[in-house]
Amino acid sequence: MASIDNYNFAGKKAIVRVDFNVPLNEDGTISDDTRIRGALPTLKKILSDGGSLILMSHMGKPKGKVNPKLSLSQIREAVGKALGTEVKFADDCMKAAEAAKDLKPGEVLLLENLRFYPEEEGKPTGIDKADPGYEAAKKEMKERQKEFAKTLAGYADVYVNDAFGTAHRKHASTAVIADYFDADHKMLGYLMEKEVTAVDNILKNIKRPFTAIMGGSKVSTKIGIIENLMDKVDNLILCGGMTYTFAKAQGGKIGNSICEDDKLDLALDIIKKAKEKGVNLVLGTDCVAADAFSNDANTMICPVNDIPDGWEGLDAGPKSIEAFRAVILPAKTILWNGPAGVFEMDKFTAGSRAIAEAIAEATANGAFSLVGGGDSVACVNKFGLADKVSYVSTGGGALLEAIEGKVLPGIAAIKG
Ligand code: AMP
Repeated sequence: MASIDNYNFAGKKAIVRVDFNVPLNEDGTISDDTRIRGALPTLKKILSDGGSLILMSHMGKPKGKVNPKLSLSQIREAVGKALGTEVKFADDCMKAAEAAKDLKPGEVLLLENLRFYPEEEGKPTGIDKADPGYEAAKKEMKERQKEFAKTLAGYADVYVNDAFGTAHRKHASTAVIADYFDADHKMLGYLMEKEVTAVDNILKNIKRPFTAIMGGSKVSTKIGIIENLMDKVDNLILCGGMTYTFAKAQGGKIGNSICEDDKLDLALDIIKKAKEKGVNLVLGTDCVAADAFSNDANTMICPVNDIPDGWEGLDAGPKSIEAFRAVILPAKTILWNGPAGVFEMDKFTAGSRAIAEAIAEATANGAFSLVGGGDSVACVNKFGLADKVSYVSTGGGALLEAIEGKVLPGIAAIKG
């Protein structure tokens, strides 16, 4: 099997699936270029070997339609700057054969947003799952997806997948395209290899104690990973918005706090399972409550199970923070996904900041720490602690699925 390190790209055209789904400001400038920087080692290796690059990515969710606001032309210059060379642009990813053919060693071509075509994701459009024709439409779309992938594959001699953020999707550019290259001409990029190694560290080389911190707004979107982690971790901190579903499930009064009323039983079940499995489940006991969802709100510290009407818990309180620190500091393996509060507003950053700082301290004491998911990554960046943790993953959903032990289609398509 080919590997990026051993492959000589000289004279080859490489089509690289990158994750250039970077957040943009209103004016189209890039607000965080982490993902572009993440792809550079792979791209530079190919160029320095004397290969040429065809870069493909999605941006946002245009749902199979052209949307100028999600055009990759907006990042062309930034990519060129990062690579130190001019970047050509193909404004239709299906009509780039000529441009690809003309590429000379060292040249770079960026394709327009793949998701301007529904074939990229391969989901039938304009038809409901419940409609009788859905299965037939799905089948037809799968055929179209193959053709789409084949066209992309036709541009290049070799395929490299370096887009960990979308590796959990079986899309044309992330998986199907690999069918059109033999094992010697398809491989994972450096970023992918790094991500896979980081996940392996969490799954296979666990040094104990292992503390996982799961936050964010809802328990429902994280339930798969929470249940899965229960078999692996010593300590499980559940924080952020899901705190209040747990507090209510246990009979607490949570005022206006975010709560999934249909997940109260699930919350009780998680508490029960943690006990059965001997996992130390750490839930917040106090919070910063606010009288409005606003940075200008009045705030007070109160127990998570006794929040007055009209108030809502928006961050972890000092006692909760102490409890979190107590299980983060001695940990030797740490996974963090999801903020402990509405960290986007300055008044409610303390919980997430305390977690990030505790992880940095533990890491300095020899722990392996992995931070993943857009919001937690934004937190460590915001607090200037990104280089104080062992690994910051570019993956959100992909990272969680990998840690759940699922085989990611983007990786399977290459590794078999
Ligand atoms: P998720 O997408 O589920 O990982 O959730 C991330 C979001 O959860 C962030 O935008 C946070 O602002 C939000 N969040 C965290 N804690 C709370 C809370 N107590 N109430 C409402 N939203 C929260």
